[in-house]
This record gives sequence, C-alpha cells and structure tokens, in this order.
Amino acid sequence: MTSTPGTTPVPDLEQRLDGVLGRIESAAERAGRDPREILVLLATKTREPGEIAAAVRAVHERGWRVAVGENRAQEIAKHEDPALAALESELGVPRHFIGRLQRNKARDVVDFASVIHGVDRDGIIDALARRAELAGTQRDVLVQVNTSGEESKGGFVPSADVLADAVTRIRATGVLRPVGLMTIGAHTSEESAVRSSLRLLRTLRDELADPQIVELSMGMSGDLEIAVEEGASIVRPGSAVFGPREG
Ligand SMILES: *Cc1c(COP(=O)(O)O)cnc(C)c1O
Repeated sequence: MTSTPGTTPVPDLEQRLDGVLGRIESAAERAGRDPREILVLLATKTREPGEIAAAVRAVHERGWRVAVGENRAQEIAKHEDPALAALESELGVPRHFIGRLQRNKARDVVDFASVIHGVDRDGIIDALARRAELAGTQRDVLVQVNTSGEESKGGFVPSADVLADAVTRIRATGVLRPVGLMTIGAHTSEESAVRSSLRLLRTLRDELADPQIVELSMGMSGDLEIAVEEGASIVRPGSAVFGPREG
C-alpha cells in the first residue's frame, strides 16, 4: 500500500493486478476452466506507456497470457514508446485494438494492431481490408455484437444469420481473418441482465458453428467473473488494474 498520513491507503498497481487475476482465477475454477487459457487484454485507455509496460510485465511474470488493448487511435502514436516496443520484441506481447473503429483511422489501426476487436459494420470491414492490402499484411478480427440492445453501443444485431454474413464478408477480403466475437456487457447493476448479454455472445458463436470463430472477447472490470463463467477467452480489464480514471 502507498499511503499518505491522514488518507486511506490506496492499493498499488501490483495489488490491484493480483486482485483482478484472483477474480479471473476463481471464476474459471467455478466454471471448471483452466484460467491460464484466458488472455488478459489490458485496456489501456489514456494510461502512460511506463504504467502500461509495468502492468504487462507483471501479468507476464505471473504466468498469464497477456496483450495490450488500445482504445483510441489517437493514443497509438503516444504509445510508440520504447517501453511498449520492448514488450512486443522481448516478451512477444501482442497489441490489440479495442476501441470504436473509424474509417479514417483504419490505417493507424492496421499498422499497429495484430488483432482488431469491434468490427461492427460493413464500411469498416472495407476500410480495414483496403489498408491491409496496401500494407501487404493480414489481420485477425473479432466481430462486435450488440448483445444488450443498448443504442449507445456499436455492433451487429445478435442474429446468427447477420453474423454469418459479416464473417463471409470479412473472409472474402482475403486479408482479414475472422477469429471470434466481441461484446460489451449490458450497462446495469442487474447481474442477470449482464449475464444474459454475455451468454448471448457464446450462444451466437455456438450457433455459427464456424471452426475459425472461437474467441469470445468479453468482460471488463465490472463483469469479469460473469464473463469468465460464460466462456470468455479474452477478458478486457482496465480500471480494476490501472485504478480509476482521472477526468
Ligand atoms: C474501457 C474499455 C474496457 C475496460 O473497461 P474498465 O471498466 O475500465 O475495465 C474494456 N473494453 C473496452 C472496449 C473498453 O472501451
């Protein structure tokens, strides 16, 4: 604990991280899953490169699979930092993009992220594919599904037919490889609503029955346990690791 006289001690990064990994581990055990199969994708939002690198190293040292999740294309340039570059080359830690995708940012996203979550409409598939072709590269993508029906959220409607069409379109690009589904759980304190939104993602994946669509990216700081119980293969904790965001 780091503490200043007269204030409540605040847990430091490693303590918060151990708390998060402990939550994932217990949920996995309850669900009869091997916790180390789960990829811990740290949602970095506006954090500083040094802080991100410290968290990634700590997760890696504890024997977990870890990746860096960038939320904002504007942050990418800032994250072209030696501390983060070293993580990729030394530890083989990949970088994923998990933010809202914009067509005019397709270039930045394709250039730095090996996995792109949140592919949520046809226009973005075309924009990413064009950039990947120009760059002579291929990228793994996850199709975002709006499992809660909340208007503020992006994503395809939760229909296996609609998703199958999106997967076909992605695959037809030849440069984007669909590997799974992604969602943001229902924004409510009602556990049953959160659980149904996350369970729906798994049901849709199973209905698709596509041997390449295996990943389920779901679970943030507030709903990690539910996500793991419902089959998440990638969880995306942010504030529970880095502490509450300022401003
Ligand atoms: C911010 C964000 C997260 C992390 O959210 P926390 O509540 O801070 O854990 C995960 N996924 C996406 C897509 C996000 O935008």
